[in-house]
Amino acid sequence: MSSFTKKTVKDSDVAGKRVLVRVDFNVPLDGGAVTDDTRIRAALPTIRYLIDHHARVILCSHLGRPKSSADTQYSLRPACRALARLLGRNVTFVDGDVATDCHEAAQRMVDGELIMIENLRFHPGEKANDLEFARQLADLAELYVNDAFGTAHRAHASTAGVAQHLPAVSGLLLAREIEMLTDMLTNPVRPFIAILGGSKVSEKLGVISRLIQICDAVLIGGGMAFTFLAAKGIEVGGSLVEPNLVADCEAMLAAAADNGCDILLPIDFVVAAEMSNDADATIVGREEIPPDQKGLDIGPATEEYFAGTIAQAKTVFWNGPMGVFELTPFQSGTKAIAEAVARNNRAVTVVGGGDSVAALKKFNLESGITFVSTGGGASICLLEGAALPGLDALDVLPGRDK
Ligand code: AMP
Repeated sequence: MSSFTKKTVKDSDVAGKRVLVRVDFNVPLDGGAVTDDTRIRAALPTIRYLIDHHARVILCSHLGRPKSSADTQYSLRPACRALARLLGRNVTFVDGDVATDCHEAAQRMVDGELIMIENLRFHPGEKANDLEFARQLADLAELYVNDAFGTAHRAHASTAGVAQHLPAVSGLLLAREIEMLTDMLTNPVRPFIAILGGSKVSEKLGVISRLIQICDAVLIGGGMAFTFLAAKGIEVGGSLVEPNLVADCEAMLAAAADNGCDILLPIDFVVAAEMSNDADATIVGREEIPPDQKGLDIGPATEEYFAGTIAQAKTVFWNGPMGVFELTPFQSGTKAIAEAVARNNRAVTVVGGGDSVAALKKFNLESGITFVSTGGGASICLLEGAALPGLDALDVLPGRDK
C-alpha cells in the first residue's frame, strides 16, 4: 500500500470541471526570461493529466517576495510563456482582481483550456491566509489541486485556506515528493546516511535530532560543522560558530552515540582570511585553523573520508553545501560530495534544498540522483516531523486515517 494517504487528481472526476491548481513556479528570472525551468517542468505531469482528461485548468503560484502588485518584476508572465513553450499550447495569462477579472475569465473557459493568474503574493491576503481571499480563489473553481511541494510548509490562502471551500486533492508531483521522503524515513534500505551542510546549525537542529534517531550515520559539513567542533572543544579560528548552540550540539553528539548513529565531522578544511574569489586559500587539519582564518570548505582528506562512507550506503539523503561553493576556491568539497552521491548507483539517493540542487546542476550530476526534491524548506519540515499545512488540508483517501 502506498504511504501517501491523500486523494490525488487520479481519484477525482475532472472532465469539464474548472480546476484550480497551486503550482510552485517560483523560478529564477533574468531580464524577463526564466533562467531555470526545473520547477515548471516538474509540474507538467499534473498539468498534462488534467488537460488530457478535459479539465479547465486555472494555474496559480507565487514568485519571489513582492511588496505589492507594483513590483512588476515579480510578474508570472515569463513563467506563463515558458510553460506555453514546454506544453506547445496556448496558456492565457490573466492579471487583475481575482474576484472579478480572473473570475470572469474562468467562467468563459472551455474544456482542455489553460489559464494562469498573476502572482498570488501581489495580494496581501495570500500570505495572511485571509479568509476572504481564500474564498475568492475557491470561487474560481470546482476542484482544488495542490502540486506545490515547495510551499507545502506554509499556511497561505492558496495552500491552506482555499482547501476549506472546495474538494481538495494532491497533484502528482506533491504526491511523489511526500512518498519518496516518507518511504526514505520509514523504510530505508540500510546503511542509511544523511549528509547535511549549509551555513547555520540553528536552521537544521530539528532535522539533525530526527535523523540521528533514524540514520546509521550523519555527515556534517558546511558552516554548521564548526559549532559541532566547538562542542568537542576544538578551536576553529574565525570560522562560523553559533555560541548559543554549542551545548545543543554537545547534547546531539551524546544522543547520536546513544542511538548508535555515527556523526562524522570534517577532519580538515580549506581556510582563508576572507570569503572571496581571489582569496589566498590553504588546507589545514581541523585542529590547526589559525585565529585569523576561517574554514570555508571541507578539505581533501574529508572529501575522501565522506566519499568512502557514501559509497557504502544503500540510502542517501543530502541537503546543504559543504562549503561556500558559490566561490571557486571553496567549491571542491561540495563537488566531491555531489560526485560521490551520484556515483553510488546501488543506493536510493534523495537530494533536497536549493543550494544542493544548484550544485548538482552546476556540476552536471543531476541524472545520477534517484530523486531531486523541488522543496528545500518543505523537505526539512517533513524530515523534522513538523506539520505541512498544504498537505494536511487535502482530502484523505477512504479508509486511511489522515
Ligand atoms: P543555508 O542557507 O543554511 O542552507 O546555507 C547555504 C549557504 O551556506 C551557502 O550560501 C554557502 O555559501 C554557505 N556556507 C557553506 N559553508 C560555509 C562555511 N564554511 N562558512 C560560511 N558559509 C558557508
